Amino acid sequence: MAVFLDQAADLCDRRNLRFTDLRRQVLELVCKAEQPVGAYQLLDELRDAGRSAAPPTVYRALDFLLEQGLVHRLATNNTYMACAHPQHAHAAVFLVCSQCGHTQEVHTPGVIRELERQAKPFDFAIQHAAVEVTGVCRACRSK
Ligand SMILES: [Zn+2]
Ligand SMILES: [Zn+2]
Repeated sequence: MAVFLDQAADLCDRRNLRFTDLRRQVLELVCKAEQPVGAYQLLDELRDAGRSAAPPTVYRALDFLLEQGLVHRLATNNTYMACAHPQHAHAAVFLVCSQCGHTQEVHTPGVIRELERQAKPFDFAIQHAAVEVTGVCRACRSK
């Protein structure tokens, strides 16, 4: 995780953006969570860590991290997850267990290429793409 935070700091440096303490702290919390986290859970954790932040501040930090591709947002339940590979543009593909909520990001570079191919005839420039696939994970199936 320290490596990931350093990479994030580098990436902000290269883009001339400020990786503020709050942005770092929010990213660290999102990374630490084993499951996608919501903004209010992050607020609670920040408070536990002795830092009180107002909800809009946390949303702004999350927006920043989203824009930089460091986290992804899951639309289904409005939660955030650290990106496993922020260095390059990609479509985020998530496998979401509909029973326990376990979420795994899978790396499928082919997906963004295919979406770009499909968007081309419409002259549409893709900014973000996320695909949420629901199903049942192995642990839940074997119960
Ligand atoms: Zn990703
Ligand atoms: Zn499950």
